[in-house]
Order: sequence, then C-alpha cells, then structure tokens
Amino acid sequence: MSLFTAVEMAPRDPILGLNEQFNADTNPNKVNLGVGVYFDDNGKLPLLACVQAVEKQMTDAPKPRGYLPIDGVAAYDSAVKGLVFGADSEPVTSGRAVTVQGIGGTGGLKIGADFLKKLNPTAKVLISDPSWENHRALFQNAGFEVDSYAYYDAAKRGVNFEGMLASLNAAAAGTIVVLHACCHNPTGYDITAAEWDQVVAVVKARNLTPFLDMAYQGFGYGIKEDGAVIGKFVAAGLSFLVSTSFSKSFSLYGERVGALSVLCESKEEAGRVLSQLKICIRTNYSNPQIHGATVVATVLNTPELRAQWESELGEMRVRIKAMRQKLVDGLKAAGVQQDMSFITSQIGMFSYSGLSKDQMVRLRNEFGVYGTDTGRMCVAALNSKNIDYVCASIAKVV
Ligand code: PMP
Repeated sequence: MSLFTAVEMAPRDPILGLNEQFNADTNPNKVNLGVGVYFDDNGKLPLLACVQAVEKQMTDAPKPRGYLPIDGVAAYDSAVKGLVFGADSEPVTSGRAVTVQGIGGTGGLKIGADFLKKLNPTAKVLISDPSWENHRALFQNAGFEVDSYAYYDAAKRGVNFEGMLASLNAAAAGTIVVLHACCHNPTGYDITAAEWDQVVAVVKARNLTPFLDMAYQGFGYGIKEDGAVIGKFVAAGLSFLVSTSFSKSFSLYGERVGALSVLCESKEEAGRVLSQLKICIRTNYSNPQIHGATVVATVLNTPELRAQWESELGEMRVRIKAMRQKLVDGLKAAGVQQDMSFITSQIGMFSYSGLSKDQMVRLRNEFGVYGTDTGRMCVAALNSKNIDYVCASIAKVV
C-alpha cells in the first residue's frame, strides 16, 4: 500500500498519443497530419526571419532576467491589445480593454476561466460541437459544467447555423459561450460575417458571456480581416474576453506565448478586472516568461519587423490555401469519385475530411498517414513532396 495506490492511469491525450505512434512508425512514407502544427514545403517547422532578427539582437545585447510583473511584458501586453482590438480603436484609447500575458493561448483561456469562475460560480460553459479537444477539460478543471452548442453538420459539410442559434437562444443568462474567432478547430468551417452579426445579437439579447478563442489570427484572411469579428462584439457594446495564441502565427509553439484580453465597460472597471486577473496569475504561476513575449513585442512594435512578420505569416496562409486546392485536385486525379471541393471552402490549418474512423485507422495502419479518428487532417502539414502519396492513400480507403 503506497500513498498513490489509488491513483488511476489517466487516458492518453489523443493527439499526443497519435504523435508517439507516428514516431514509432517505420513506414518511410509516413505523414503526420495529426498535430496542429504548420510545416513549410520541406516539411520543416519554420523559424521565422523576424523572430531570428530579434533573437540576434537579444544575444548581441544580453539582459539580466529578473521577474516580470505579474501581467507580463508591458510592451507585449499593449502590442497584443492593439492586435486584438486595433491599435487606434476606442477600446484601446479609452483604456477599458486590459491585456495580460499568458502561457500560450491555453494559459490565456485558463486565466479567463479562473477569473469567470470567481465572478459567476454557477455559470455553465458552452463550447462548439465539436471543439478544440482541450476546451472541455480546461473549463471543467476550472470548476465549470461544460455543455456544447450545435456547430458542425456532417451531412451538409458545413455549419449547422440554425442549430447553433437555437442552442445559444436556449442558454441561460450568464452562460459562458466559447467561440472560435476564426479558423475553427477542428472542422475548418467558420461562420460568415452576416452569421456573426446574428450570433452577436443573440449573445447580447440573451445576456451571454462571450469568450472568443483567437488561436489563429492571420491564418484565415489576414490579421485585420480575422480580427473583424472582435470589432462586431465591440460595436454591439458588449463586454467580453479574448484569448490569443502566437504559437502558430509566430511559429513559437514551445515558447508558450499567448494572452488574455478583457473588454470592460470603463477604464475604472478595467482596473478592477486587471487586479483580479493578476490574482489568478499570481496563484497559478506567479508571473510569466520573458523570452517569447519579448520577441513578439519587439516584432509587433518595430515597423520593419512587423511588416516582415505579416509577410511571413501571409506566406504560411497562402501555402495552406494552395495545399487545399492541391488536395482537392490530387484526390480527383487519384480517382476519388465524390466531390471533395468542400476542402477549399474550409479555412485555417484543419480540414474535417469527412472520412470515417475506420478509414482514418486504415490510413494510419496501412499507409502511415496520420490524422485523428474524427477525420481531422492538418492541411498545414501537407507539402509538394507528400501530397501525391496522401492523395493516393486516401483514394485507397474511400
Ligand atoms: N485554442 C485553439 C482553438 C487551439 O487550436 C489551440 C492550439 N492548438 C489553442 C487554443 C492553444 O494554443 P497554445 O498552444 O498557444 O496554448
């Protein structure tokens, strides 16, 4: 009998488990479309030139590493706030928006979840059906009951928007609604601008609490374009939360760079909210890391580097779109009868391919092509060398 005898083995993380299986696979043609990571056309994880430029500056003039303030690098927080709301926007100039540095987008979500739990302990959380696989567990771990709102319609290959509205309309006042600001993970289907207007209207009418998860700003149509959704919530006069991740947009996955922004009613209210966010941070990990946030802040606050970043991000975005088209064309050329053109109407890094669990398992076991059992494939891991093999493999299982 030991102290930990009663400890049960937790289930493996589905995506990380897939990675382990991929790493152990000896198939020389294997392709990992499981994990949500952008790879370049050579299958390499990019190290952006703008990031390297700042890191060179940092090693040329090394600085001591004292503790950061609880809310992180000040220049970072203000740059992220500008990115989220627009640098000259009213929420920024009025001082009623607050942004705190977070440990990745996940950290931003968790700070927000802890803050909301204290504010409204009995609120329920609604996430999309399906959603990023960590949303449910993250909000449950913060103490919330988590339910879902209708989102994906497999038969239609798109969003069940009527169902989504119906779910939101049925939610009790104060319900926290986690919305994917752009590039929905896992489906790749976003709602239209006109549909966003309707969501904003329901959120307002029902007095729901919007929590926008923006993990892919810039991967859809561009920084500003993808941020337009935030402007709709601002224009409606709502208060809300936004989590930001730079894991993908800066290819800084392991540096854990993210943030939480909260739009309040007034500057005075923002001060009170910030004081509470700091308590959530302080009691979890005291204060965040210097490196990644300094890199991102320097890029965002230096016009030439910022332009370079937007161009590098644009290259990633354009390459993903080109891969979507190649996938559609390649599947047709490989003999797939059904119309797969829906893949180009999806956006961001992922595609819900419509393949069944059995087909995904066959792809993995017989061809070494790894996606999740739900049929999700990371289009951002396709390249000019593996695309033909992936198309031929899919053609053999459908
Ligand atoms: N939200 C969504 C929708 C995501 O897809 C991800 C990352 N895959 C995150 C949050 C977490 O981002 P990070 O890795 O920066 O913690």
